Amino acid sequence: MNKKLIIGNWKMNKNEKEIKSFFDSFSKSKDLNSIKCEYGVAPTFLDLMYTKELFSKNKKMIIASQDAHFEKSGAFTGAVSYQQLKDHGINYSIIGHSERREYFNDTDEVINKKVITLIENDMVPILCVGENLKERSKKKHFKVVAKQLHYDLNNVNIEKAKNIVIAYEPIWAIGTGKSATSEDAIEMAKFIRQELKTLFNEEVAKEIKILYGGSVNDKNVKEYLSNEFVDGALVGGASLDASKFIELLKGAN
Ligand code: PEP
Repeated sequence: MNKKLIIGNWKMNKNEKEIKSFFDSFSKSKDLNSIKCEYGVAPTFLDLMYTKELFSKNKKMIIASQDAHFEKSGAFTGAVSYQQLKDHGINYSIIGHSERREYFNDTDEVINKKVITLIENDMVPILCVGENLKERSKKKHFKVVAKQLHYDLNNVNIEKAKNIVIAYEPIWAIGTGKSATSEDAIEMAKFIRQELKTLFNEEVAKEIKILYGGSVNDKNVKEYLSNEFVDGALVGGASLDASKFIELLKGAN
């Protein structure tokens, strides 16, 4: 079985002082060597380089961005391009998080451009998909996720598609403390894998990591990941505190 992957999404949190204190307590942890999963954090654009430098001796720590613009450069005030990220050694980017879709109007068309651009540049998009509460209560969750996958992964180069990471994040479970059951996560991971087979092929679909995200913490992480279908987790709130994050990573082993 592939190693599990855990990415902490720090959202619009932490200043340098707080990141330094996270780093100090993370790096001093006696448990660091017992962590077997792959892991990383996604700070704000402003703190990407600071965080990367702090963790430069920790070769396992992936530093990911929370978004990327699909254009290489140009008149796009407020944006940071995939190329600028790549030039700075940032090769992972969360794309299509529900907060981006909701508050920044990231449409499937835009998300598709971002995914294609990252893939073409040998970067790793962590593509978020998931339904809202209304859609879940109307039992439309499979339909919604299928639609997002088909739009967002349209025209992605099949030769490079294995680098994609998908994060299934039911919107009703993000930051709410209401987590989906492990059965919900497994059921959707299986469904997504099936859709990926249709979109690409069986071999590629097998390689793509499928994460679950939504109120995962050090107490419930085992529940979600102790199976062969869910390949890891995208974690918000529980990634902010270094000792809790370490406990969570240990639970993902
Ligand atoms: C997220 O924002 O991707 C997330 C899963 O948040 P939380 O873990 O806080 O629900």
